[in-house]
Amino acid sequence: MLNDPLKTRLIRFAHLHHGQSIPMVTLTGSSRTILGRTIYKRTLMSPSTNWLNRIKGEIRHDEPMANHTSLRVGGPADLFIIPKDVADLQLIFKHHGDRPLFILGEGTNLLMSDKGFRGIVISIKNRFKSIEKPLFFKNAQGEEAAVVTAGAATKMSYLVKNLAKYSLTGMENLVGIPGSLGGALIMNAGADGTEICDVIRSVTRVNAEGELETLSKSDLKFEYRKTTFPTKGGIIVSAELELKKGDHATIQETIDRHLVRRKNKQPLSLPNSGSVFKNPEGDTAGRLIEAAGLKGFSVGDAGVSIKHANFIVNKGAATASEVLEVIEHVRTTVLEKTGIEMETEVIIVGER
Ligand SMILES: Cc1cc2nc3c(=O)[nH]c(=O)nc-3n(C[C@H](O)[C@H](O)[C@H](O)COP(=O)(O)OP(=O)(O)OC[C@H]3O[C@@H](n4cnc5c(N)ncnc54)[C@H](O)[C@@H]3O)c2cc1C
Repeated sequence: MLNDPLKTRLIRFAHLHHGQSIPMVTLTGSSRTILGRTIYKRTLMSPSTNWLNRIKGEIRHDEPMANHTSLRVGGPADLFIIPKDVADLQLIFKHHGDRPLFILGEGTNLLMSDKGFRGIVISIKNRFKSIEKPLFFKNAQGEEAAVVTAGAATKMSYLVKNLAKYSLTGMENLVGIPGSLGGALIMNAGADGTEICDVIRSVTRVNAEGELETLSKSDLKFEYRKTTFPTKGGIIVSAELELKKGDHATIQETIDRHLVRRKNKQPLSLPNSGSVFKNPEGDTAGRLIEAAGLKGFSVGDAGVSIKHANFIVNKGAATASEVLEVIEHVRTTVLEKTGIEMETEVIIVGER
């Protein structure tokens, strides 16, 4: 008899070699069973899913999500769509019916379960990456400023470095946040006193009804690591950012300082998903976890980082269940010792 973690790893291994792009026609092909798990699901092609044939982008079946998360864990997504354009996105939102959707950015703030996602994962990673030339203007205070439109899949660090070329200031503290602009907008990502909401002018998304809409900053609500939209769902495709003209040398120096600080303080050589817990009011999660003596606490290959206590690292073949066990142990230990209930920052998703 195989024990559960071993089974999970074998299933993941099977999926790793099974996640290649396949034409839709093979979806109706025969299903295969590996360790009791059906790898191809016949139910996917039916009259209600014919719309998938109209997708111009790529469609993958049973795509291993471990390949798409920075923590390198996560089982298969039933369908993994890489849309070609906005029309593809509109098609998905108009026709997915009751099939659950999950929007993937760079997967740097995710804990995807070992069983994976029963539904459609949309990945815009390979598209929606353009950064338009800044449009300079004088703001209400008479300062030189610029509006820049960037695609939601643009990587944050690339964006910050690109803006620095034009001596635009306002985002340099966010360099080194490893996700996409879209993910940063949803998470209201921030570092060192700056949050992405500080520079947003507008956000364009395909909403849950499949309509393309542009929302201005005043339509959105921002909290610590959370942005609320007027209606739920949808996918951000681009955003307009407003920045001021600054001093190039100072901007570059700030960028360099942040990158060195991250390298020194964060366990960047091992797969991780950034800060696991939100900082509680007036304290930091890292300090509380370290004070509770939990640095290095591990379950299997998932462990609290020695370098930064609010990071859980994957030391090799960690499973999502092991990561979850570490999270639960850390949460209950800190609660018992301090009375503080920590909330996860990392998004836990997938079938449990
Ligand atoms: C080493 C490391 C350091 C980090 N440091 C920081 C830090 O300093 N500050 C900080 O705030 N975070 C930090 N993070 C966490 C993470 O990088 C951010 O939360 C980031 O903004 C997530 O972006 P992503 O593209 O990876 O989103 P994902 O992790 O893929 O997704 C996050 C959420 O956004 C949604 N989403 C993603 N893209 C879109 C889109 N286009 N439209 C609609 N919804 C979308 C997803 O559905 C999900 O709900 C760090 C992570 C790591 C691994």
